[in-house]
Amino acid sequence: MPSTFDVIIRNATIVDGTGRQRFGGDIAIAGDRIDLVGDLGDAKAASEIDATGLVVAPGFIDSHTHDDRMLLSAGDMTPKVSQGVTTVVAGNCGISLAPMPNAVKMPVTPPLDLLDASGEWYRYRSFADYLKALRQTPPATNCVMLVGHTTLRAIAMDDLGREATDAEIAVMRGHVVEAMEAGAFGVSTGLAYRPAQAATTREVIEVCRPLKDFDGLYCTHMRDEADHSMESLNETFEIGREVGAQVLISHHKLAGVKNHGRSVETLCHIEKQMHEQHVCLDCYPYAASSTILTAPNAANSPKTIVTWSKAMPSCAGRDLADIMEELGCDLEEAVARLQPAGAVYFRMDESDVQRILKFAPTMIGSDGLPHDEQPHPRLWGTFPRVLGHYSRDLGLFSLETAVHKMTGLTAREFGLRDRGVIRAGAYADLTLFDADTVIDRATFDKPIALSDGIKTVMVNGAIVWNGQRSTGERPGRVLKREKA
Ligand SMILES: [Zn+2]
Repeated sequence: MPSTFDVIIRNATIVDGTGRQRFGGDIAIAGDRIDLVGDLGDAKAASEIDATGLVVAPGFIDSHTHDDRMLLSAGDMTPKVSQGVTTVVAGNCGISLAPMPNAVKMPVTPPLDLLDASGEWYRYRSFADYLKALRQTPPATNCVMLVGHTTLRAIAMDDLGREATDAEIAVMRGHVVEAMEAGAFGVSTGLAYRPAQAATTREVIEVCRPLKDFDGLYCTHMRDEADHSMESLNETFEIGREVGAQVLISHHKLAGVKNHGRSVETLCHIEKQMHEQHVCLDCYPYAASSTILTAPNAANSPKTIVTWSKAMPSCAGRDLADIMEELGCDLEEAVARLQPAGAVYFRMDESDVQRILKFAPTMIGSDGLPHDEQPHPRLWGTFPRVLGHYSRDLGLFSLETAVHKMTGLTAREFGLRDRGVIRAGAYADLTLFDADTVIDRATFDKPIALSDGIKTVMVNGAIVWNGQRSTGERPGRVLKREKA
């Protein structure tokens, strides 16, 4: 044991990320790792943090983000570190910023415009180029990267309204190999989105073939999260089995009033399939979803709020019903006039959200959209909301379980060795918070708001959030998938 450490956190209540019961102790950090956990007595450190009255947990891992560009353009990652998040998974829902071997076609096809409507950030010619940029100008958080099938379709195809030809599949597959060799964790799809809807199951399987050799992940925003959820689950399982890859069902939900309550059915099906193949899933803690504005989504949603509109920027934050009334037109036309645009849809049932959150294998992923004018509050509030609202106030699960769902479980599913847990030898990704006061403050009306109760956040041993603001430290790393 070295006689002095870089940092000692004293008098902590440790929730270690494994799900086990909290315990009291001190944590000593040397460099980027935890050196000792226990009673450190009179050991010395260059700096000490008194954690009396606070919980120390592993830094939270946001299993589902669209932070591809924010990691580079706003690398302090304030919406994330202010919630205690120390690692983000980006490149989801078929949308990744890289690769883009030639200039992106303008205007940027929705939903690729969720990451960057200007086209300026689609500048990384290969996946390796993108990861190199992340290493050269590191963000505050660690990152885990996926390559998006819709991005690959936009590269390989001139008409996205049909299935890819064998030649186009070969081009996409080549990019998957390049991305996986560079360090991607897997491929994501967004089969619900127009530019990928025409992709057949066979196309996805053939594009994803290389995943087997790399032990990569298949992450999917499924073709349907409403009336045909069961068929979509079956398609997802089939792709995973055919390719020989672990599958991740992204932001599991049941949309549309007539599907409310059906999470009983979907979770039972998922659980059964978990005995047959490697399946995991995540969820965000809200009964409203958010993505681009489309007429079918709005038609299936009792209430829709516009989050941004290029054609009518002043509509950001307004109810679509009010906009329709003002324009004196029907839904189809209002949606058409707002394009390109984004929206929040109030179309899920709270009982489904709670059932999915509570399901033991469910991880927490925000699905935040960092470039929306009036973003869904999940961007700023997801993790404190699970801790404060769902765990403490509603008692949906224990604090230990809540933390596990955002740390140890996620690290295990993604293959993040020595992360997501507090023990000697693990990386010093840590979040100190007040379990009595932690809560989200971001709402649908005022979505950009810091949460309460998150104190000190550390990434690879460096403090990135001091309880009030980002410190400017950028210790984040591009992580590698290392299956146990
Ligand atoms: Zn999605």
